[in-house]
Amino acid sequence: MRWPDIFYDERSPLHTPHGDGRPKNRRATTFASKNACTANDSNNSPLSAASLSPKELDDKGNVHGLNIAITIVALAVLLLGLVSTVLNDMASPPKYDYSQLTFNWHNDPASYLEPVMAPNFTYNVVLEAHAHTTHSDGDMTPEQLVEYYRANGFNAAIVSDHNTVAGGLAAERYAQRQYPGQFVVIPAQEYSCCRVHMNFINIRETIPVVQAFPTDSELKEAIDRVHALGGLVVVNHIPWSNSTTAGYPDTATLPNHPNREDLVAMGVDGFELVNGQVFDTRSYRFVQNHNAQHPEDPLLVVTGNDVHRPQSVYSWTVLQTRNGNQPLTAQAVFAELQAGRTDFLFEPSGTRQHAVPQRNSRYWLLAPLTNLGEYFKTYYDRQRGMYSFTGEFCQPQIFEVHTAAILSLAMYLVVAVVSVELVSLALFFGKSGYRRRARWRVQPHPSAS
Ligand SMILES: [Zn+2]
Ligand SMILES: [Zn+2]
Repeated sequence: MRWPDIFYDERSPLHTPHGDGRPKNRRATTFASKNACTANDSNNSPLSAASLSPKELDDKGNVHGLNIAITIVALAVLLLGLVSTVLNDMASPPKYDYSQLTFNWHNDPASYLEPVMAPNFTYNVVLEAHAHTTHSDGDMTPEQLVEYYRANGFNAAIVSDHNTVAGGLAAERYAQRQYPGQFVVIPAQEYSCCRVHMNFINIRETIPVVQAFPTDSELKEAIDRVHALGGLVVVNHIPWSNSTTAGYPDTATLPNHPNREDLVAMGVDGFELVNGQVFDTRSYRFVQNHNAQHPEDPLLVVTGNDVHRPQSVYSWTVLQTRNGNQPLTAQAVFAELQAGRTDFLFEPSGTRQHAVPQRNSRYWLLAPLTNLGEYFKTYYDRQRGMYSFTGEFCQPQIFEVHTAAILSLAMYLVVAVVSVELVSLALFFGKSGYRRRARWRVQPHPSAS
């Protein structure tokens, strides 16, 4: 592409175009002319449009076009980075598609495990006591969750979404329709806040969490409300609640967690002794001591895989219903929970993970952008700690910009731009010098005439 001649007398390969294509300062113009004169030593005249051949003008146009292209690409990458960072935070589709899962296996934990507390404990119910669905932060629908538990050797499940009973009620409807008398669901809510997580078992309405950090009396009010509705309260995963979250070494994941004695005084009915792979040995000892001292009012023992998506299963709560060979009912299972007559199976290596989700095609469509966003996020840290499930976070926000990393990026960009300019310069002078030497050989020198 040719440019109007007027541009060429002020332009050099060292000059990067700005907007309208004109140099922005005199120094650039002077430097350009000086260099151009050096290149034009064959006729010893100042550089002008008239002094350059059409091929030389084309060379200059190509270099100019290259510079424009580099600028456009650089701006496009910056814009993409900005868009992709926002996209990565706000609109990235999930990486996996869980809608096509199949549950075509059957695991039988009784074939290789015996109850932990009393190896001779007999049972006809294998219960999951803690699970999530798509009604909170789980990836399986209530229907899929029931199928997943059937495949893993359970015939009962307490479905406990964060701060809602909707998932439990949906799973209950599905089990009643598909497996009456064979698989029961007890609806529940995982009461989730910044102080404690508790499963409110066998309730049909959601108990509101009044604030991210409820007071002791607000916790007790919630517990009393569950009892008034005929439910039970179990304290979940104390080791996880008391662990630290990355970036916050001085505060627990759930700060100001009530201790076990205080929770019993508030009226809780029991403790989750296993959560995922973690066996809470301190709660185990606490419950054993308590039940030895208060055999008339034992604390309930349950275990939970806290399933959010297909994973290995590590524990199974077991109990024996008292209704003989009658079809299994939620009432019969719940009666045993109320009486505290449970034991559990535990295998820390877990079951094989059979259900593998497909990759989500929408995610991979946007993956270049979201991955770019992930890259740009390495230049700063933004942490907010544990989510309260009430709209707030449990730790103060930390925002830190990595200045050294940004300076390093800027240095690489400068090196890249200078390198491109040097290559452009070499290309330009290489070509024009060759043509002038060729012309020198075929035309008589002015001094000869
Ligand atoms: Zn929890
Ligand atoms: Zn949970």
